[in-house]
Amino acid sequence: MPSTDCLKEAQRVMTVCNACRYCEGFCAVFPAMELRRTFSAPDLKYLANLCHNCRGCYYACQYAPPHEFALNVPKTLAELRLETYREIIRPGFLAGLFRHNGLAVFLITVLSQAVVLLLVFVFKTPSVILSTHIGENAFYQVIPYRLMVIPFSALAIHILANLLIGSLSFWRATGGQLSELADPRANLRAISEALRLKYLDGGGYGCNYPDDRFSMVRRWFHHLVFYGFMLCLASTTIAAIYDHFLNWGAPYPLWSWPVMLGTVGGSALLVGTAGLLYLKRRMDTVPATPRAFGMDIGFLLLLFLTSLTGLLLLFLRETPAMGILLAVHLGVVAGLFITMPYGKFVHAVYRYAALIRNAIEQAREKTE
Ligand code: SF4
Ligand code: SF4
Repeated sequence: MPSTDCLKEAQRVMTVCNACRYCEGFCAVFPAMELRRTFSAPDLKYLANLCHNCRGCYYACQYAPPHEFALNVPKTLAELRLETYREIIRPGFLAGLFRHNGLAVFLITVLSQAVVLLLVFVFKTPSVILSTHIGENAFYQVIPYRLMVIPFSALAIHILANLLIGSLSFWRATGGQLSELADPRANLRAISEALRLKYLDGGGYGCNYPDDRFSMVRRWFHHLVFYGFMLCLASTTIAAIYDHFLNWGAPYPLWSWPVMLGTVGGSALLVGTAGLLYLKRRMDTVPATPRAFGMDIGFLLLLFLTSLTGLLLLFLRETPAMGILLAVHLGVVAGLFITMPYGKFVHAVYRYAALIRNAIEQAREKTE
């Protein structure tokens, strides 16, 4: 039985929607809702994470305020999503990070930045940091190899382990069997939907975002962020292979794969995050939960700063600014890596798991 106020409100809202069903073509939430007569806590958490806050069902709803039912589906599901994040995080005492996430992300990033700068100044003299370094392994003249590789490898393991534990906990919290999570057909469908951002197209018209008008702009910016992030990840992975397995130290020439992928990916990430931040500033706040603002903005800002400092480092790497820019870029990346499992990024993981569950349910429905 739903226990918290969030769950009780979600149950009330879904019960009204299930009787109405006007919005069934809007997204994946309503067809999934229609497979149920009653809503358990795991069902509601699953539905909340299937929603991507397009707001179509708020502006279309005849029971939205000032109607006495006061239905606000996007806000209700957004609040429940936040509650799911807090419930699933391990270890449990870190749940507070989701309560004041913007502040936590800010403080952790500032601290990471301070630690990186401190290490640079401890291990290197100011003259080395402010000099021009050109050629293979130039970055290691400023920050020693081990100081760069060991902490960031540990942070990468920290992200992967936490996201894996989080996705398994999410699956259990939403009532799934562990064996279903690896269902190949469901994964293929979920991957295809995630890569196309299928449900952000609002059935062809786009989201009602940032206001009640239909627009594809949020979907385009999301695409830029998603593919920009993936290209940056590919760039970093190839650079790591060059460095550790082929003995070819950075920085790499402009025509090399790490630089080409990083430039395109970083630019896409910069434009995408700037666009989403701009939309967030202009959005109608009624169908949203104010408790998520800090988390959303903190994550977007970190991605924006990561791409901005990365691109500046690329363009100014043969100047005396390289040393300071490298330290600033690594400080921002460290902040991003440390906070990734405790912020907005978990939405991508839980939403993917919810898409798998939806694919399984829809396939089962077709065969019955
Ligand atoms: S959001 Fe409103 S219009 Fe849409 S299904 Fe629910 S009750 Fe009906
Ligand atoms: S806000 Fe959009 S995605 Fe969420 S339930 Fe409403 S129509 Fe579906």
